[in-house]
Amino acid sequence: MSGGWIDDAARALKTPLHHHARGQAAGPCPVCGGTDRLCVWQKGNFWCRRCGHAGRWSRNGYGPTAPSPPRQLAGGPSWFDFHLNPRAAEAWAARGLTGEHVERWGLGLDDGALTWPVFAGQVLLAVRRRNPDGAAGPRYAFSPGDPMWPWLAPDAPETAELALVVEGDIKAMSLHAAVEDMGWLAVSLPSARPGRRAVRALASIVARARDVVVVPDPDVGTGWDALAASLGASVLDLPAKPDDWLAVVGVERLVVAVEAFTRPPAHRTGGQ
Ligand SMILES: [Zn+2]
Repeated sequence: MSGGWIDDAARALKTPLHHHARGQAAGPCPVCGGTDRLCVWQKGNFWCRRCGHAGRWSRNGYGPTAPSPPRQLAGGPSWFDFHLNPRAAEAWAARGLTGEHVERWGLGLDDGALTWPVFAGQVLLAVRRRNPDGAAGPRYAFSPGDPMWPWLAPDAPETAELALVVEGDIKAMSLHAAVEDMGWLAVSLPSARPGRRAVRALASIVARARDVVVVPDPDVGTGWDALAASLGASVLDLPAKPDDWLAVVGVERLVVAVEAFTRPPAHRTGGQ
């Protein structure tokens, strides 16, 4: 169904591409190689997660016109240096994320702490870190000036069937990894008490999706009901934190639970 544009893009970019998500393909970077580090979008842009090779393609070829994502915050840490840590994939595997996710999302490791960049489009907003269990101090650390905007996968599709909203970036990563192949996305609120601008940013992200379901941790108060109401979202109460629950029951049961809250679209038959 989508093979047409992927074949066009592969010819234009002179690299083999495969379907990755709706409107999105992946393949080796023509500059630095690999197997799927080049993200190519149907709407005409492409970006290498490793070397930053980026631009726009058309049936006639391509031009490296788009800016590369910045590697460093002004006066702040370089997510890219952390990302190059050869042990990053191993550290994130313990959180259920693969080397592919590490590469696609710029995940990293710094002195035992998990690190990840937060982007709004091509703008680097923050580099966040989760300190190792048992370390002194707070579990999560935020770079100075972090606007506490939601984490969204940098290669999330422009439109989605459904958006899941969860508390915490790593939880959003786990859920996004589980549901992205269905054309869903997961997005975080990095704080249990988000500011007004973070909620606005969240609202603009979930506007990509036809349905929105908020999945709070079981121990939160009623604040998320108001948030869900402001987003026009349903609230799905689970008996455990959504990533833990997902790990136990599997993605199929998560899908059934979520779909019970949303209108079954006409083209989706069965499964109820
Ligand atoms: Zn590259």
